[in-house]
Amino acid sequence: MQVDAKRGIEVLDWVYPPVCEICGCGLGGGDALCEECSGKMLRIEAPFCDMCGEGFEGQIDGAFDCPNCREVSFHFEFARAAMLRSERVLDLVHRLKYGREVHLAGALGRLAVGAFSDRRLGVAMEEKWPLVPVPLHRSRQRERYFNQADEICRAIAEETGLEVQRLLKRVRKTETQTRLNRKQRMENLKGAFAVRRPWGREMKMPDTPGVILVDDVFTTGSTVDACAKVLKKVGVERVAVLTVMRG
Ligand SMILES: [Zn+2]
Ligand SMILES: [Zn+2]
Repeated sequence: MQVDAKRGIEVLDWVYPPVCEICGCGLGGGDALCEECSGKMLRIEAPFCDMCGEGFEGQIDGAFDCPNCREVSFHFEFARAAMLRSERVLDLVHRLKYGREVHLAGALGRLAVGAFSDRRLGVAMEEKWPLVPVPLHRSRQRERYFNQADEICRAIAEETGLEVQRLLKRVRKTETQTRLNRKQRMENLKGAFAVRRPWGREMKMPDTPGVILVDDVFTTGSTVDACAKVLKKVGVERVAVLTVMRG
C-alpha cells in the first residue's frame, strides 16, 4: 500500500492549522516561524571572531584581538554560530530543552544551517564531515526524553544530507554551567566526555578530514572544547563547531 504522505500532512494541517511558534499567526507553508518573526532574528554576519564566532560592529581588517579568545586556546579549529544572541532564539532553545517541545528542533536546525554560508563550513559540507552531537548524560536524557543537540543534528542532517555520528558520550554528570565562569566550567567538565564504543565493536572513526560538533548555544566554549579534546585524542584531525546561537 502506498501512503500518501503529502495528503497526510494536508489532513493534519486541517486538524491543526500551522501557526508561527513565536507569535501564533497562521502559516501557509511548512515553516515553523512566520516571515516577520524569523526576520527579527539576526544572523551573525562578518565581522566576527574567526575562533569563537562572536559578532563585532564595524570593519575589521586582518587579524584582531577578540576579548573572548585572549589567553585561551581551544581544541577545535573554529566555532561558528548561525544566530546572534537574542531573547527570541533563546526562548526557542529553552522551550526545546526545558519545555520538551521537541518539534522546535526542526526550526532551530534550519536556523543553524544558515551558518554553512561560512566558507569553512562550506568546505566541511563538500567533504561530508559528519555531524557529532554534544551528548547529554544518560540520566539527564532520561529526564528530558531526548538530547536537544541530537535533535538539532537530525534537522541539520535532513537539510544538508550530512551524516549524524554519535561519537561521544557523557560519562560524568556535571553541575549546570550557567552560574560558573570559564575556569570553573573547565574544572566542572574534566573527564565528563568519552568516546562511545559500541558493545563488542571497535569504534568506527570517520574517514573524513574532520567532524562538525553540534550544540544549541556557544557561551564560553568550554563544553565543546572538552568534547573536541576527546575527539582529537582518538585521532580526529579537525573539529569544527556549529551552534544555533552565540550565547
Ligand atoms: Zn511569527
Ligand atoms: Zn573570539
